[in-house]
Amino acid sequence: MPKLYFKYGTMASSKSAQALMCKFNYEQKGMKVLLVKPEVDNRDDGEERMVRSRIGLTAKCYTIAPDQSFIELFEKVNAEGEIDIVIVDEAQFCTAEQIDQLKQLSQRASVLCYGLLLDFTCHLFEGSKRLVELADSLQEIKSVCRCGRKSSVNARFVDGKCVDSGPTIMIGGDESYESMCYWCWQDALHKNK
Ligand SMILES: [Zn+2]
Repeated sequence: MPKLYFKYGTMASSKSAQALMCKFNYEQKGMKVLLVKPEVDNRDDGEERMVRSRIGLTAKCYTIAPDQSFIELFEKVNAEGEIDIVIVDEAQFCTAEQIDQLKQLSQRASVLCYGLLLDFTCHLFEGSKRLVELADSLQEIKSVCRCGRKSSVNARFVDGKCVDSGPTIMIGGDESYESMCYWCWQDALHKNK
């Protein structure tokens, strides 16, 4: 029986690289992979139909808008050849409804979701929350904070200052992010106040 997986980690914890290596492994064995990412991720600036990892791996992907259905996309691509595996990168940006659709699809093909668990305010993203509720398997991709502890928060910096308010998704801003443990994140926030 196929399953719904959620492999989560902080920023720069190699999630996209792992998603792409996984795709490569399945394709080496002759399996068909549907690689998708939610459209809200504009990191690629005009090259939206690519998944890119920080270590240089890239692959073409389908994108899906918040009002589009994973089931419709699956049916369309599946008609051209049966899909064995669905891989979703940046899965935190999916809507709760889209995660419900992925749960349905996991009866037909394994669905591997990669994404962030927590946003820059240390709360679950909508898609991540639904994945925690529905996934058959949760796996943490660990990464290290500057202090050596495990990182968990994706701290947002605007003009060099750590902030915990603002829009969930900031597009085109001059912000940057650092994955941190909860305690270093609290220290960084308090330095600003
Ligand atoms: Zn720390």
